[in-house]
Amino acid sequence: MTKKIAVLAGDGIGTEIVAEAIKVLEFLNADMALGFEFENGLIGGAAYDVHGTPFPQQTIDLVTPADAILLGAVGGYKWESLDISMRPEKGLLGLRSTLNLFSNLRPAILYPQLAAASTLKPEIVSGLDLMIVRELTGGIYFGQPRGVRVLENGERQGFNTATYTESEIRRIAHSAFKIAQKRNKKLCSVDKANVLECTEFWREIVTEVGKEYPDVALSHMYVDNAAMQLVRAPKQFDVILTSNLFGDVLSDCASMLTGSIGMLPSASLNETGKGMYEPIHGSAPDIAGKNIANPLATILSAAMMLRYTFNNEAAAARIEQAVNDALDANVRTVDIYSEGMTKVSCSEMGDAVVTALKNRS
Ligand code: NAD
Repeated sequence: MTKKIAVLAGDGIGTEIVAEAIKVLEFLNADMALGFEFENGLIGGAAYDVHGTPFPQQTIDLVTPADAILLGAVGGYKWESLDISMRPEKGLLGLRSTLNLFSNLRPAILYPQLAAASTLKPEIVSGLDLMIVRELTGGIYFGQPRGVRVLENGERQGFNTATYTESEIRRIAHSAFKIAQKRNKKLCSVDKANVLECTEFWREIVTEVGKEYPDVALSHMYVDNAAMQLVRAPKQFDVILTSNLFGDVLSDCASMLTGSIGMLPSASLNETGKGMYEPIHGSAPDIAGKNIANPLATILSAAMMLRYTFNNEAAAARIEQAVNDALDANVRTVDIYSEGMTKVSCSEMGDAVVTALKNRS
């Protein structure tokens, strides 16, 4: 049966890194008869330039029936002065909410070959393998009312609203517990229940849901402590479950434990397992067009697509093994380069992964 993958390269390095992930997927598509069909669409600044909006109807029509979406990144200097409603990032938020992609999975894995690239001591990070499950379609990023208003005394005030409904918390909690069941069965829910009522409620509901997963050890942690623990002793975590805002910050923090933002994939899933897969980094306008970006986060996002949407563990594991083999072959893009390694371009890194796949087929 044909499986449709919508490909949204986006802006900046998006086109360069997505091309490499497609190279890898096309190889596996032929090698394992996966039945994938790829169709390209526009999002972000690239969509604004053509259609006058970062999330045009043409893209909605493409992603709605697709089984999965592979996305590069959005944003860039060119669009920074646009009204906030037309900025490239709005395209991404639109995509997440249109497809109800509420469950954001962000693994942080340290490849042993890159242990020296982490700013933390090797003994703190070596063997690191944690998963952050971030709620993606609720919380303060979407809560109403929001804006800037003028108070009675004439002073202006900026405001946002943090909200979570019980059903929003339940579904992300179930998602995280199920993932923990497939890993080391430890789930740490991160909140600020001592100060924010919304997250006190979060803790109450997560605790209730936890009773349905007696095989998973549930703990709770305040976000300030979690930030500290992530850099102090990150290997204590298996799965971290948290809200949209806290997850945004903690996952970027976790990414740095692994050395480079260019190594980390992500998945955003809805209730049926349909997903959008993208690297956690942005469009890196400072290096766009130079063919030097690291495509591995995007290639590893394609592996997550095979695992979480297409339930093809074998194909996912082949990509992850090939990335490992490419690193073993000592090829490095500039962001993960260290002395004695062979510096390669974005496209050469993609080629190295395909070569590694061929070598084991
Ligand atoms: P960024 O992630 O684009 O870049 C941060 C730094 O990391 C830069 O120095 C960049 O060169 C480097 N970097 C990022 N990805 C890399 C890769 N694959 N290989 C090598 N180096 C890499 O973050 P930023 O600079 O804060 O944002 C740039 C633009 O991206 C902004 O418009 C921002 O809004 C947007 N953005 C988009 C997303 C997304 O599409 N999901 C996420 C974050 C930021």
